[in-house]
Amino acid sequence: MSKLALDIKDLEASVGAIEILKGVDLEVPFGEVHAIMGPNGSGKSTLCHVLTGRSDYTVSGEASIEGESLLDKAVDERSRMGLMQAFQYPVEVPGVGLEEFMRESGEERGWTEDEITEKISEAGERYGMDRFLERSVNDDLSGGEKKRSEIFQMAVLSPKVAVLDEIDSGLDIDAVREVAEGIEGMRGPDVGVLMITHYSRILRYVVPDRIHVMIGGRIVESGGPELSARLEDEGYDGIRESLGLEAPSEGAAEKRPADFFTETPFDV
Ligand code: ADP
Ligand code: MG
Repeated sequence: MSKLALDIKDLEASVGAIEILKGVDLEVPFGEVHAIMGPNGSGKSTLCHVLTGRSDYTVSGEASIEGESLLDKAVDERSRMGLMQAFQYPVEVPGVGLEEFMRESGEERGWTEDEITEKISEAGERYGMDRFLERSVNDDLSGGEKKRSEIFQMAVLSPKVAVLDEIDSGLDIDAVREVAEGIEGMRGPDVGVLMITHYSRILRYVVPDRIHVMIGGRIVESGGPELSARLEDEGYDGIRESLGLEAPSEGAAEKRPADFFTETPFDV
């Protein structure tokens, strides 16, 4: 199968007069895990929102899953095409049990009850989720458990393209390792994984095939796993400097106060 899992060409997105994505090109083949890294405000989450079809954006360019165009499709159609996103802040769904939720989602995909049962029990065992199956989705779970639940949900629903936005944020290091192992476990010939991260620490446990650096709404640099070591040494400022990009100006969105100490992508 030579078609790409995810193929993005010259993707632009704006909200009102604010341009956020300024021409993103990205190819994720089946079987690969790609990471996008970038400082806060660079447009990483916007890329996810535009792919999943959130309506706030004016979008141009192309995106396709296994050659089928995505941007003209409704949100639920995109998920039936095989796009699935895990969220930075997983939604809680009180009153809906995890197993029930998985069964409904499987039925929407046209799977038989037996197929669904098998997928749930296999993934449940793999990710130690058995005891959470009767509980409400993500309700009263710790941060790490929620992320594990998201990975479990992906394992059951087997998307063609899995997008993970900051799935490592807010986790202690053991939980990061666990989530990373979950991502490594998702690797397979029928899926392309796009993980988005601000910090490189998860890259100690997941080795992506490609790393892309997003700054100012563009992918400004792509490389192999060695790029993470370079980022660790030079930070995003080093990349900016080597490419002759301007540092964000005072008052720019990238300098939101909460971002003050997260400008370097690494643990301090
Ligand atoms: P990242 O995920 O890389 O931190 P985001 O994609 O969340 O970045 O945001 C990129 C930029 O776009 C930020 O400056 C943010 O404030 C702005 N932005 C995102 N969504 C909206 C919106 N709905 N309205 C206005 N500005 C937005
Ligand atoms: Mg974000």
